[in-house]
Amino acid sequence: MKQYAVIGLGRFGSSVARTLSDLGHEVLAIDIDEERVQQVEGFVTHAVQADATDESAMMSLGIRNVDVAIVSIGENLEASILATLILKDLGVRYVACKATSELHGKVLERVGADRVVYPERDMGVRVAHNLVSSSLIDYIELSPDYSIAEIVARPEFAGKTLRELNLRAKYDYAINIIAIRSGDAVRISPRADDKIHENDILVVMGSNEAIKKLQP
Ligand code: ATP
Repeated sequence: MKQYAVIGLGRFGSSVARTLSDLGHEVLAIDIDEERVQQVEGFVTHAVQADATDESAMMSLGIRNVDVAIVSIGENLEASILATLILKDLGVRYVACKATSELHGKVLERVGADRVVYPERDMGVRVAHNLVSSSLIDYIELSPDYSIAEIVARPEFAGKTLRELNLRAKYDYAINIIAIRSGDAVRISPRADDKIHENDILVVMGSNEAIKKLQP
């Protein structure tokens, strides 16, 4: 069990806090707004009203002892940057921050953020991919050229084994099927003689080009 601090309890922060709690971790949730604090009280270990830009307040909360702190203040750039700086100065080992723009992210990295996430931008990319292709269910970018995608299998794949389809060779070895989902059942690392059924969902990892070609 690890100790986490979540600072800023908007939609993103409270979702992170709730998930960490559900996963069995200790969570210290902090917000400057008392109402936001009350909203998470029921599901985190400690919920405290405090200003994350007040170094002595952060110190007295014992924040330096947490394993990971998540700064999820988006709108107020100054508060987000100062809070990150203070957490690193106080010695928090790993600080992850939510950024609302590339520039905001760059500044957070400069003041010591160990990880910067861009939830709005990343979700926008995923939703756009899903809108463009109705067969593409989800999409995670690994690098500018490679991704993991969930794709509805082409109708002509039904009844064929992976060996028969020979997709890797067909797509210049730029694609790998890492799982096949049939309803609620998932076959992880499928074998060559695993068969694809109608409406199966393929979880594939590969080049963006190959993933695009694989969609019906
Ligand atoms: P989300 O998109 O995640 O819902 P939001 O738009 O509701 O975020 P943000 O401006 O990103 O709100 O701020 C998230 C939370 O951070 C708010 O609940 C706000 O009260 C809190 N917050 C802002 N400044 C501070 C601060 N100095 N110390 C602690 N919490 C703060």
